[in-house]
Amino acid sequence: MKRVAVLGATGSIGTQALEIIEAHPELELVAAASGSQQIDGLAPLTQVGGDLTELLERAEPDVVLNAVVGFAGLGPTLWTLERGVTLELANKESLVAAGELALAAQERGRGLLLPVDSEHSAAFQCLEGRPLETVYSLVLTASGGPFRGRNRDELTDVTPEEALAHPTWNMGPKITIDSATLANKGLEQIEAHFLFGLEYERIEVVVHPTSVVHALVRFRDGAALAHLGYPDMRVPISYALTYPERGATPVEPLDLAGGLVLEFETPDLETFPMLTLARRAGEQGGSYPCAYNAANEVGVAAFLEGGIRFPDIAVIVGETLEAVDGAPAHGYDDLIEADAEARRLAEQEVGALSRS
Ligand code: NAD
Ligand code: MG
Repeated sequence: MKRVAVLGATGSIGTQALEIIEAHPELELVAAASGSQQIDGLAPLTQVGGDLTELLERAEPDVVLNAVVGFAGLGPTLWTLERGVTLELANKESLVAAGELALAAQERGRGLLLPVDSEHSAAFQCLEGRPLETVYSLVLTASGGPFRGRNRDELTDVTPEEALAHPTWNMGPKITIDSATLANKGLEQIEAHFLFGLEYERIEVVVHPTSVVHALVRFRDGAALAHLGYPDMRVPISYALTYPERGATPVEPLDLAGGLVLEFETPDLETFPMLTLARRAGEQGGSYPCAYNAANEVGVAAFLEGGIRFPDIAVIVGETLEAVDGAPAHGYDDLIEADAEARRLAEQEVGALSRS
């Protein structure tokens, strides 16, 4: 039996994880948490809001599936890695914001860190057991979001409803906006850097509108291994939950003769500046990735509330990254402070933009 705690159990990832746990008698749901929605009776231990690490202390899980959205997932990520409990990570924001602290915690805890993000699950599978020096580069695919093919000016007046209409994936609102700005692929480059120990020159992003290829790894001999499948998060969630057995899922096998389209294009960096900003923040290191994430969370929330325009999200992130000192966080408190400072600067920027 694997004792599983699901954090973010009412979300898009969380509910799909519950479906998979339900289908596997060897997976036992011991705890479930949500941010604000009621979850009485869902698991022996449940919690709405509050300190997620207290729930984990009581639950003593073998596996934590962290499907909380945003920086709020940080505490459980560090708690789990520190103790050597297996971490199945959908909450990319915590790894982006606290990459170094998370890796140090994992080194002490010596537990497994399994990615749930589809591209990273795919990359993990293509890389598993292969020495890094044989890897030429990792290619992360992006659907391009609902605004692929538009130029900068055409994005000025897009509404939250338009931005929330993702072409290939059905996900929570925050990551759906991140997919529209391509901040999601920005966060994912930083996530990949910390997960796989690859420097940024070896992490590429390519637009692939049908989202069938989830990632490719190019090797030094000219070969590339790719991971294909329909865009369905139950596959990477199940892969992590049943690792290393690769349990069955109800997802259909690919219909190869049914008109599968595998097209790729380079991302439009001018229209989607969140990609370049992420790359730069990642390369600068220190607490720059934390600031990128914090300012993006503030920008996305302001856009969804109708306070700012879509392109302002990138303006807020760019200005915040200019204003922070980016000094490395030497511990948890330092990081919390870096996050808070970036949020304060980003809120100021939101104020200035909504008045103009
Ligand atoms: P969602 O908005 O659908 O669900 C978020 C969950 O987190 C909810 O259960 C909510 O109650 C909980 N939550 C929010 N704030 C909280 C807080 N302060 N404390 C405790 N719980 C809180 O989000 P989602 O789309 O399921 O995404 C979850 C995470 O997985 C994100 O980090 C996202 O980037 C990542 N991810 C999602 C997908 C996807 O297909 N949805 C794919 C890849 C990665
Ligand atoms: Mg992803």
